[in-house]
Amino acid sequence: MELDLKKIERLGKIREYENVRFRSFLKGFDDKKIDPIVHRLNEEISAQIDCTECGNCCKVLRPRIAEQDIERLAGGLGISRSQVIERYLELYDNELYIEQIPCPFLKDNKCTVYEDRPDDCRSYPHLHKPHFISRLWSVIDNYSICPIVFNVVERLKDELGFRR
Ligand code: SF4
Ligand code: SF4
Repeated sequence: MELDLKKIERLGKIREYENVRFRSFLKGFDDKKIDPIVHRLNEEISAQIDCTECGNCCKVLRPRIAEQDIERLAGGLGISRSQVIERYLELYDNELYIEQIPCPFLKDNKCTVYEDRPDDCRSYPHLHKPHFISRLWSVIDNYSICPIVFNVVERLKDELGFRR
């Protein structure tokens, strides 16, 4: 299991072409075959990784914020909806995102709004979802950021006999 974030970032660059080839290779399978394997690997690997020791997604990505997230954050922080938008969010391509990187709610590697965190944060790295094959570009992006994604993809390559 690889947990070293610097090494994962470096390997993400080195294996960029390999991962694009793996993406093409996966297109030869269907969701019925791939989703159960990815879900199993995700459960196995997530159980062995402590996100509070990592926190990398909160340091390098900006979660997308939906309407219900604003309400929840406002309630948790004890401020108004418009104060949440003004203080923490920015509009990009017609969607709202947390404005700052690292996330302003990350303190000592822990989410200070954990109970009220956005749905995008709850779902990340999204490997429990169906249709893994239709989300491969984002999987490749997350490969160099998230140790869960990195290790799931490497195990998936092994299990499917992908030639590196
Ligand atoms: S809201 Fe919490 S979980 Fe989401 S990016 Fe910020 S610190 Fe991380
Ligand atoms: S989801 Fe991935 S990047 Fe985020 S804290 Fe957990 S292991 Fe790290």
